[in-house]
Amino acid sequence: MSFDLNTEQRAFRDVMRGFVDEKVAPHAAQHDRDQTFPQESFDACVAMELPSLQVPEAYGGAGADMVTQAIMAEELARGCASTSVTMLISKLGMLPVMNFASEEIKQSYLPRIASGEIQASYCLSEADAGSDVASMRCRAVRDGDDYVLNGSKYWITNAGVSDTYTVFATTDPSARTHGITCFLVEKEWGVEFANHEDKMGLRASPTGEVIFHDVRVPATHRIGNEGEGFLIAMHTLDRSRPTIGAQAIGIAQAAVDYAGQYMKGRKAFGKPIAELQGLRFMLADMAIRTEAARALVYRACATIDAGDPDGALSYLGAAAKSFASDTAMSVTTDAVQLLGGYGFTKDFPVERFMRDAKITQIYEGTNQIQRVVIANTCSSRSSWENPLSTLASFAISSLLHPYLIPTSSLLRDRWATWRPFVNDNQASGRSAPSRVETN
Ligand SMILES: Cc1cc2nc3c(=O)[nH]c(=O)nc-3n(C[C@H](O)[C@H](O)[C@H](O)COP(=O)(O)OP(=O)(O)OC[C@H]3O[C@@H](n4cnc5c(N)ncnc54)[C@H](O)[C@@H]3O)c2cc1C
Repeated sequence: MSFDLNTEQRAFRDVMRGFVDEKVAPHAAQHDRDQTFPQESFDACVAMELPSLQVPEAYGGAGADMVTQAIMAEELARGCASTSVTMLISKLGMLPVMNFASEEIKQSYLPRIASGEIQASYCLSEADAGSDVASMRCRAVRDGDDYVLNGSKYWITNAGVSDTYTVFATTDPSARTHGITCFLVEKEWGVEFANHEDKMGLRASPTGEVIFHDVRVPATHRIGNEGEGFLIAMHTLDRSRPTIGAQAIGIAQAAVDYAGQYMKGRKAFGKPIAELQGLRFMLADMAIRTEAARALVYRACATIDAGDPDGALSYLGAAAKSFASDTAMSVTTDAVQLLGGYGFTKDFPVERFMRDAKITQIYEGTNQIQRVVIANTCSSRSSWENPLSTLASFAISSLLHPYLIPTSSLLRDRWATWRPFVNDNQASGRSAPSRVETN
């Protein structure tokens, strides 16, 4: 595994920097103030063919590696965090399609995502089911060749803007995580939307409720089998979290760059504050943390590109996302401090960086949930030598918290190794859905 960018990745990063400075960053403050969708930035991204990077070549995309996709997310976030998530969200919505849908569905939707003609959203959370996904109430009932969806999904990025919605609903509430099923739903099939949230940060990215009143979804648009939705959701988040880390690094880097420049021009006690050692050390610490976070994020992305040879992706992705987002929060807070009173005003961008950084600690699983994932993996590792004790702790922890099942995708991927030791009833009773691995 390489620990540095290759020539193409470097060249792409340089192009992205120029593109973001010219076409994206100039619109960020206005859309943040007005809470409006960054349409001209999105159109510029489409003109640059950025949506194609995240789609495999077989479906009309450029099939870029994950490291390149992270470069895109980081550089966009350096200029406008909302535009960055706007570009990432269709990938999040389409990962279940890329990895688990029928060939027909892939051919029908992915080329249009790649061209930027349509956008996708990912609908997992509900008003009373965020971290605790198993408590979801959105219901799907089979009716002939269709499923009928009723319920609502909360906090959905691009609600109303996207053309397709990847929806997780329960087909068997009593089975909790094992009763969740995934569907691809088109907006035009009667999906309704409530008002967008008035948020502290990421204000140019619309977030809202997606509502289903007797929405009929053809069974052909079920992704995976009934009951496989939870595993599909977590498999997807494992592959998406590193790019949220990339978004966080972009925000942090913007704060380091802005504060560094500001300190050269601002004078106190007759000299630039850039000459005050206490502040120089603070700036250096911000840069160190940002570089460390970048290394972890790019490592997680390179692990996806390498096909996750050690089965460590859940763990690495959670570590990268949580470390990078905690870093972005502390670095942007320090940047506000380095600008003094001016940093606290909307005339300077660092307060926006600080507000935008906050969401990276919350979505795609809060950083507390990432730590549950990481701690569970640490505990599992020590018992790998003993399959029965691992299964016992896995079964107990599955009862305690739903995230402990995806946490254990490591364990699940080793299922074949354990199968001779136990009968199916002793564990979750489920094997991983059949899938084609795509990043
Ligand atoms: C701007 C924005 C965009 C979003 N976009 C999407 C989207 O596109 N699609 C989507 O499905 N969701 C989306 N979300 C939802 C987001 O993923 C959830 O908000 C998040 O998972 C947390 O869920 P919650 O808000 O219900 O918090 P809760 O689950 O109620 O958590 C409250 C607190 O309890 C902590 N907590 C909960 N359980 C545990 C535990 N076991 N151990 C330790 N601490 C715990 C949490 O860390 C948190 O601090 C978005 C949210 C926001 C704000």
